[in-house]
Amino acid sequence: LTLSATLGVVPERHRQGQGIDLDTLFRMARGRAPSGEPCAALAMTKWFDTNYHYLVPELAKDQQFSLSYGQLLLEVAEAQQLGKPVKVVLTGPVTYLALCRGEHQQPLTLLPALCAAYQQLLTALQQAGVSWVQLDEPLLATELSNEWRQAYEQAYHLLQRPDLNLLLAVYFGYLSDNLSLLTNLPVQGIQIDAIRGAHEIELVLDRLGPNKVLSLGLIDGRNVWAANLAAKVDQLKPLAERLGDRLWLSSNCSLLHVPVDLDSEQLDASVAARLAFAKQKLQEIQRLGLLINQPNSPQAQQILQQDQERRALAAQGRTLPEVQLRLNSLSPQDYQRRAPFAQRQGLQRARLQLPLLPTTTIGSFPQTADIRKVRSDWRQGRLSDQAYQQAMTQAIVDCVQQQDQTGLDVLVHGEFERNDMVEYFGEQIPGMVTSKLGWVQSYGSRCVKPPIIHGDLSWPGAMTVHWYQVAQQASSKWLKGMLTGPVTMLNWSFVRDDISREQVCAQLALVIRDEVAALERAGAAIIQIDEAALREGLPLRQQDRQDYLRWAIDSFRLCSAGVANDTQIHTHMCYSHFNDIIEHIAAMDADVITIETSRNRMKLLDAFKDFAYPNEIGPGVWDIHSPNVPALEDIKQLMQLAAASIPLDRLWVNPDCGLKTRGWPEVQASLRVMVQAARELRAELGAVEQPLVTAATPS
Ligand code: GLN
Ligand code: ZN
Repeated sequence: LTLSATLGVVPERHRQGQGIDLDTLFRMARGRAPSGEPCAALAMTKWFDTNYHYLVPELAKDQQFSLSYGQLLLEVAEAQQLGKPVKVVLTGPVTYLALCRGEHQQPLTLLPALCAAYQQLLTALQQAGVSWVQLDEPLLATELSNEWRQAYEQAYHLLQRPDLNLLLAVYFGYLSDNLSLLTNLPVQGIQIDAIRGAHEIELVLDRLGPNKVLSLGLIDGRNVWAANLAAKVDQLKPLAERLGDRLWLSSNCSLLHVPVDLDSEQLDASVAARLAFAKQKLQEIQRLGLLINQPNSPQAQQILQQDQERRALAAQGRTLPEVQLRLNSLSPQDYQRRAPFAQRQGLQRARLQLPLLPTTTIGSFPQTADIRKVRSDWRQGRLSDQAYQQAMTQAIVDCVQQQDQTGLDVLVHGEFERNDMVEYFGEQIPGMVTSKLGWVQSYGSRCVKPPIIHGDLSWPGAMTVHWYQVAQQASSKWLKGMLTGPVTMLNWSFVRDDISREQVCAQLALVIRDEVAALERAGAAIIQIDEAALREGLPLRQQDRQDYLRWAIDSFRLCSAGVANDTQIHTHMCYSHFNDIIEHIAAMDADVITIETSRNRMKLLDAFKDFAYPNEIGPGVWDIHSPNVPALEDIKQLMQLAAASIPLDRLWVNPDCGLKTRGWPEVQASLRVMVQAARELRAELGAVEQPLVTAATPS
């Protein structure tokens, strides 16, 4: 956002008068200044493979660039007052341009003009006394077309200057065939991701040339684990001997992806011994420098001693033999429902007796201030267990009865007891901990607190059955059990790095499998396992995706396949861009999948033109990200669109996502419209309100 403002990439609708000021930034980011008329904000999307969001720069048809906003220079001046050299960090021009959207047809033609604006900025920084500027180019950790490779050559030749040093930084991955492209660029230094690209350090070194600085991103900014300093020193020593003061040390990326300070936590000592948050990571970098530069100093000895003690403490209690045994004894059957979908579908229809186009919701209902207060009062001991139980029971029973009266077919309990769909489980599963203040920015002022997976994971006993039962007793209709899937738990947590993510995901799958079984024993005929974050775990590089998808899909199958044929497994995903992975989604073999579609008018259904999705599907017909009550005709139209590519008897009617951010009045009104739309469609499309038994569907 600030870089766009600095370069003058500000859409006309966000400008008012001449200059660009803080109000302009508010209009760009939030669609309105503190006082002013609303206008459409910039789009927001995830920054590479992180959970951090950036505001997507929007290029006008005739985009021009000029220095327009001075915040960066003020910040540099402020930092310089600390009296140390300041390295300024900017997103590099090629990555920036690649992330732009908007009306301009050929963004690459803008590269020279964009570089000219960067040059102006570099001049201003040079005049402010800066001698190194870091240009972040994470795009180089992805597959590039020839056009974009050429863009790198063009841009960095245009940016050369005698009076300023450029450090070109790549992070979030390895370089692969971009390696020599990077080492050949005319810059004074390069920084590489020495964690994800550890295997390339030697190669980079061989091609570095005689004068360039190599900055090693050796401390992991994407994870919370403490570094093994002794091992890092062994790794660094030969490099330091070769490069001398041309070797720099750094984190491999910005530290905004980790929480701030471990010292604010009160965690179990053996867990804490394994952790480093941002402040501790800075210490690690500083200590590594000391260990290399003054290896024989008393401080160096002390640091190594402490590091060793820390590791001894950290070695405790990581593995559970029974988890390992169970993982080793899994067989292909554990990943396979007993019967194929076509057969299960008939059995489920016979059991559930749902009407055509059944209506349901995605799980959560409004998390009102009252509900949040009940939870936090109870956590902080201001509310007794009994009073908490009573208040939750009340909320759940009310919610279920309302759904029943509205005429929904499959009900949910509302998720009032959950602070967050991952944290709720993270707090209960042995092997996971949640921090007190481990917040990480997601976007704007929104933060998340990812749980930390530090050891082998085991099922603690039923986590969701009690509230499921409370809800089921409040209605004679079917109630969906509601769980978070293993891949989503993995992708929204900090994951131990001493075993593979694949292994951790399998452990999570076994925990969820046990919970699924517990719900089934408690009578649940429908169980939803959310995989909201399955897609965002996709690796940046195409070549790594197949492997991820293989074990991610396997994990889902492992957690869901243990149930009886007439138990219906649902899953939910909060996006619809999965044309490229639709076969894998199908391979999850969920009986029903609910997805987001209403905002893009069923664009998703394009995916079904080339691939016949075999199971049942509920394309979202109500955009829950907006406070608007959907129009009856709109919902009907969306469903008719869906019915054009998917047989009617495999369609469900539901919102796009959970309702926790909405208010009760809109929820009530919208659900009534949704139910009404389903009723009218059943009648109009000539269907009887009876369960259908269809011919077997090929799978
Ligand atoms: N069941 C969850 C809910 O309704 C799903 C949330 C999500 O998809 N992000 O809130
Ligand atoms: Zn969702």
